[in-house]
Amino acid sequence: MSGKKSLQRGLVWLRNDLRVHDNSALYHASTRCDQLAAVFIACPDTWKSHDEGDALVSFRMACLQELQEQLRLRNIPLYYLEVSKFSQVPHALQQITERLKAEALFANAEYPLNEQRRDKAVRGKLQESGVQVEYYSDRTLLPPGAVRTASGDPYKVFTPFKRALIQLCAESEVNPLPMPKKMPSTDKGEHWPKWLGLEVEGSGKLTQKIPSQLPQYSLDIDGSGRVKGWESGEKAAQKHLKAFAEIIDKYQAERDFPAKDSTSRLSPYLNCGAISIRQCVHMALNLNKGLWQGGNEGIACWISELVWREFYTHLLADFPRLSMGKPFKEETEQVPWCYDKDLFSRWTRGETGVPIVDAAMRQLNETAWMHNRLRMIVASFLSKNMLIDWRWGERYFMQNLIDGDFASNNGGWQWTASTGTDAAPYFRVFNPYSQSQKFDPNGDFIRRYVPELASLSDKEIHEPPKVEGYSQVICDVGAGRKRAIEVFANLK
Ligand code: FAD
Repeated sequence: MSGKKSLQRGLVWLRNDLRVHDNSALYHASTRCDQLAAVFIACPDTWKSHDEGDALVSFRMACLQELQEQLRLRNIPLYYLEVSKFSQVPHALQQITERLKAEALFANAEYPLNEQRRDKAVRGKLQESGVQVEYYSDRTLLPPGAVRTASGDPYKVFTPFKRALIQLCAESEVNPLPMPKKMPSTDKGEHWPKWLGLEVEGSGKLTQKIPSQLPQYSLDIDGSGRVKGWESGEKAAQKHLKAFAEIIDKYQAERDFPAKDSTSRLSPYLNCGAISIRQCVHMALNLNKGLWQGGNEGIACWISELVWREFYTHLLADFPRLSMGKPFKEETEQVPWCYDKDLFSRWTRGETGVPIVDAAMRQLNETAWMHNRLRMIVASFLSKNMLIDWRWGERYFMQNLIDGDFASNNGGWQWTASTGTDAAPYFRVFNPYSQSQKFDPNGDFIRRYVPELASLSDKEIHEPPKVEGYSQVICDVGAGRKRAIEVFANLK
């Protein structure tokens, strides 16, 4: 327990940290306060402007419903408020904390620029009324800013970042925090008597009912539609983690083959916080005798992927321009990107005539998720062979992925488009046909999503002849590659 003075009433403001175990803000609030409540504030107009799509928001809301029940078991009521924009949040929280006589607000830090600005405004507003605001580092293993070069600068290259991060993390154990303690019973309503129906000026009503509809979104929080197959909540996340632990040994060997279900599929849970990064690393280290590197190669490889997530989140916090639609490498602003809406739309629909690209885009459209190898292939095809602005692709991914995460998505797109830090060198353009032969050798994945090609041989399916009902290739893959290399080579 910290040496800070204990408080009578606290409020935990939940965002993308929807779990009771190993939740820094929730845990610390429960050790500091005699009475605790939680609030979630939906901001659908801002979410829309950030391109958060139906699948992502549906999944988040479904996880929130599950969390409400878990919190109730610990006597922590979870209330819900809907405002339209981030800008309304500081005022809303001020009113809520004032009426509840909460002495402190606890939340876990978020790093995209608008989120940081919102949180700063909340701190300022609440300080006016004497309410303490405490933000915790929770989304990453170490807080952004903690991993620095010898000269105190942020790392811009992954491998030295990983080395430094591991060194720092290995100095102390990665131990997830326990559940928050059970708070005194609220059965008689004596602690939070007037919450229900509390109207927040200029916003909606505080309620305990988490809605299944948001006017701006078409939600599937009952698990129908595209989020089907993704069981929501913290328990489901733990189930996935446990199941993945059984196959993690094969991760390095099999992770690039989209027809095999050999990755963890934890990304939607990590992104809405139904599981924490520490819980994932803790499981991996336990299985690997405490080793971050070496030992079992499947486990070490998985840890490394988790560190990519960490790297991109730290970069986002250090370089605000990434949140402003800017490339990391400023000279790539000069690339004469193509803005052909028709070609782009065919890419989004999975009608490019390149089977592996089409299968991947249809996987995204049908399931709201895409395998990592395929994300690289389709991103390379769009930004290099088609020379379409990577930001169009980045946006489409955010709007459609159930695991859309600004840092990882931006990082992945900028890596592939060679506009990012430590990105793929510009002359390395994925050849979608050889990628297809290598990573979907029998065409099993293509057949699953592109039934028009199902009867082709394993050899023909990667680069098919003219097939009735299937698109012709929309761009000259070889010429597109050459053009992209020339364009990048000529950047000053
Ligand atoms: P696993 O292979 O099991 O990896 C475990 C976890 O490590 C993932 O859940 C994820 O949190 C992290 N991770 C793995 N690979 C990466 C990576 N390359 N970069 C960052 N983190 C990684 N990931 C997202 O979570 N959200 C996105 O919006 C997103 N957009 C991407 C866009 C592009 C163009 C590319 C190339 C990658 C993107 N990724 C994104 C990274 C990666 O594709 C997904 O994290 C991964 O496919 C999720 O599947 P999994 O949970 O089975 O991963």
